[in-house]
Amino acid sequence: MSKRFKGKTCVYCAAAGASDTGDHVLARGFVGAEHHGQIPKVPACVACNNKKSGLETYCAGVLPFGGRHADALENLAANVPKRLAKNQKLHRTLAAGQTRVWSREPSGLLVNTMALPLDGERLEELVGLIARGLMFHHWGVILGPDIVVDVLSLTKHGETFFAGHLNLNAKQRVTNDIGKGALTYEGVQAVDNDAISFWTLSLYGSLVMDGGDGEHFMSKFGVMTGPKTVAERAAQRVASGNYIIRP
Ligand SMILES: [Zn+2]
Repeated sequence: MSKRFKGKTCVYCAAAGASDTGDHVLARGFVGAEHHGQIPKVPACVACNNKKSGLETYCAGVLPFGGRHADALENLAANVPKRLAKNQKLHRTLAAGQTRVWSREPSGLLVNTMALPLDGERLEELVGLIARGLMFHHWGVILGPDIVVDVLSLTKHGETFFAGHLNLNAKQRVTNDIGKGALTYEGVQAVDNDAISFWTLSLYGSLVMDGGDGEHFMSKFGVMTGPKTVAERAAQRVASGNYIIRP
């Protein structure tokens, strides 16, 4: 156990002195071993670490099937069979949920394609925790219980909204790419309040996801943090829930 993280404030739940370990903001299983050194570590308590690890196990078992980043094929071949062998329940869920759907290509053409079920709420929850970790890593900010972290799966409308906010005057801004596109993000911090920030994040080079109605979208996420009143005045929330991920 690293002394560097012991007894610090947990960046996920903001409990003072509660941290027991250094949590990788993006679980190592999301990237190839050669990229492990790029992943930021932040103080986390045992409860948050366990909760996040459950979300990571789920997402890292499903998302690589839809990966489009440079390392996607390598990652799928190297990591996923091992992971699914260790997690029979997830393997069964995926096998049972495998289906074919009609999906609209960017060209407008409808194609019949294989799809896997994906629990969008779990993915969004994980993205929210990643954003908390990044806020601490880059700017030393821990978001207290009065701060809302709102995660949106972005439609075109949402992307325009976030692009506008990312271009505003900022106290600090950051862009980064971890694991050759496994996680890319851009964030800005408000000038007048350290807890207010806007982020866009993509996992695995923007997966193609499908809301179930044949209209697919790229899985870029927008995250807003700030006091409730600020976070609520924002982009139209896309119905979240169960998406289908398209390999
Ligand atoms: Zn915690």
